[in-house]
Amino acid sequence: MNMAPILLKNQTAESLHAALAGDGVTPRMARLIQTSVIRHNAFPQAAPGISARALEKARASTAIPDLELVEKTVSPRDGFAKYLFRGELGDAFEAVGIPILHRAHDRKLIVCVSSQAGCGLGCAFCATARLGFRRNLAAWEIMDQVVKIRADSDLPVRGIVFMGMGEPMLNYDAVMTAAAILSEPCGMAINAKSITISTAGIVPGIRRFTAERRRYQLIVSLTTADPQVRRDLMPVEKLHSTADIIAAMRDYHAAMRRRATIAWTMISGVNTTERAARELAELVRDLPVKIDLIDVNDPSGRFHPPSRDELNAFRDALRRHIRAPVVRRYSGGADIHAACGMLALHASNPPG
Ligand code: SF4
Repeated sequence: MNMAPILLKNQTAESLHAALAGDGVTPRMARLIQTSVIRHNAFPQAAPGISARALEKARASTAIPDLELVEKTVSPRDGFAKYLFRGELGDAFEAVGIPILHRAHDRKLIVCVSSQAGCGLGCAFCATARLGFRRNLAAWEIMDQVVKIRADSDLPVRGIVFMGMGEPMLNYDAVMTAAAILSEPCGMAINAKSITISTAGIVPGIRRFTAERRRYQLIVSLTTADPQVRRDLMPVEKLHSTADIIAAMRDYHAAMRRRATIAWTMISGVNTTERAARELAELVRDLPVKIDLIDVNDPSGRFHPPSRDELNAFRDALRRHIRAPVVRRYSGGADIHAACGMLALHASNPPG
């Protein structure tokens, strides 16, 4: 009976060893295969101290899956590079290479990856929401976004953010496997602290992440502290209330002694007021957090980012009311539809 090959890029070195131990693969050999596949997208040819026969046997039991690059667009304005990939089942999904160039001696790339094709959470300001949920990506499909972008860039990949298409906590196992491969020394060797898992507020996911003591950064997209407004903007509020999300974040902080980050997608006139800042302060009283401010990038034109004055006033209000680091994240690449889901939306609905 022919067995399906074991997919590489879908395994940590440890699980690869467990899967191939019957073929005589040792832990050292598994690490060697992992390094070659993750860093060079190729099975190792030879290695000191490992017989060619053993390698050949392992090669015959495995396969290296590959994403198809459908489209790549680079912003002439800020160098953001958006990639549209197609995986094993045909649905397209996106990743973005974000160059960090502000220090001449420390030029690097952050890669924003998708965890699902489409998304079922229906946030009102998000292009991906319009695609609906298509499917969860396999760990290798998440991994390979990074492998492909790394091979395409002159800059070293130093960080990963799970903030592309999809809700990572609803594809938890594949996301955590991909993150483990990205961080293990024989994989991409990216510092776990430079890997960020975001969630729109899936409370069981936050709780599992805490119970498993995951070392990655956690970002919770809150966007408003008013549950009524949140129900309209982020319907996930109907499943997991703001109060439950904050309770899970408190437990995360208590267990990990780490601040989670609150992501705030700024929408002019909606969540950038003095009142919005006060409501957030009330909600996170005594809970150490960080706050990331992100401009809304709404393809429908319904929501607009704040003006410079509005942004400054909101930032000042946050600093007055909350003792937390407040950072405005540059959401670049607007000229190439770099906001999550926009390229895939264009691909599935090409302009006529
Ligand atoms: S913002 Fe994130 S969670 Fe909300 S619909 Fe878009 S991809 Fe899904």
